[in-house]
Amino acid sequence: MYIFSGNEKVILLCFCTESPSPTETDEEDEDIFNKILKVNKDSSQFLQEGDIVPRRSRSAINCRHCNWPQSSDGIVRIPYELDPTYEEGHVKGIHEAMAEFEALTCINFVKRKTERDYLSIRSADGCWSNYGKVGGGQTVSVMKAGCMWKGVIQHELEHALGFLHEHSRSDRDKHVKIMWEYISPADRPDFRKFENSNNLDLPYDYSSVMHYGPYTFTNTTGKATIVPIPDGSVHIGQRQGMSNLDVAKINKLYNCSRCSTILDGPSGSLRSANYPRNYSDNTNCVWLIRTRGKKVSLHFQAFQLQKTTSCQGDYVKVYDGSSKSSPVLLDKTCGSKIPNGIVASSNLMLVEFITDGAHTASGFQAIFTAVRTQRRFSIHN
Ligand SMILES: [Zn+2]
Repeated sequence: MYIFSGNEKVILLCFCTESPSPTETDEEDEDIFNKILKVNKDSSQFLQEGDIVPRRSRSAINCRHCNWPQSSDGIVRIPYELDPTYEEGHVKGIHEAMAEFEALTCINFVKRKTERDYLSIRSADGCWSNYGKVGGGQTVSVMKAGCMWKGVIQHELEHALGFLHEHSRSDRDKHVKIMWEYISPADRPDFRKFENSNNLDLPYDYSSVMHYGPYTFTNTTGKATIVPIPDGSVHIGQRQGMSNLDVAKINKLYNCSRCSTILDGPSGSLRSANYPRNYSDNTNCVWLIRTRGKKVSLHFQAFQLQKTTSCQGDYVKVYDGSSKSSPVLLDKTCGSKIPNGIVASSNLMLVEFITDGAHTASGFQAIFTAVRTQRRFSIHN
């Protein structure tokens, strides 16, 4: 992307007549943008590049005041209203998509009180958004049937934050080849490149939640319209949600100083900065662990933190979900006793590491794996 200047069963039931629960990760081999296009095919809304509502009064290139304002505490609070027709499961899904922004960036989506500029998140006809802050109430369409996926919701919210599609950035020809011969003339403007894009001095990101998939707008079955350079087999498009570079770009655009990392994949490890040398004072880091469709299991292998009463100094805290408002799995923990293994109730777990201004130690190291969610009953006892 780039810019210019609890009860799982109940939730699943809520979605089974429409689209799958956005709290579930996608097992299908289908990228986010493909889902968006499928739904928007029948939309009466005029859209550019598949899902962006065109601006009438000003061009995107001259959009200098599209950013949402930052409070003096560094937080960018974006007011929103939700469609009253959303059911509980839809609201939960949208909140979960928003919670990742809050955990990983300084963007907070807050319920609107009387603010003039706000997002009106509605189940209109399709998955679409304006680009950047428009002024007044601006619609972000998250249709109940078809758009209720975490990555899709995050994609549309990122448009509203001021990000356009990744493959439109000025340096894209170094990273992808656009196969014009498989794109019908009417769809070719959707692949335009913006020469003046502000790429934030961050790398091109094949796995951005804002990247088209390889077959977007193809007119020939099986022929890709976007091929990565030099290795055409590199995966493009996203299925799970924001990437680490998506997060980095939001934090750079909005001047957020955040230490946050997404850990994708079936297993992996995390450790405090400098481990096994001493960690720094005054750090505030989070790791969002996101496995695919199974529960996250976390095991600490080493643990050595400053010991204080109630761990009010340095500590590790672990949440059962993707935000600090999720239930707590491991409350503030410090000292040198290795905590017991932890299993989340879903494929999401957030690990927080806070240090104060005094005393350091070697920190921690942990590994995570994805474990099966089904419980088996034993016939013995
Ligand atoms: Zn889009």
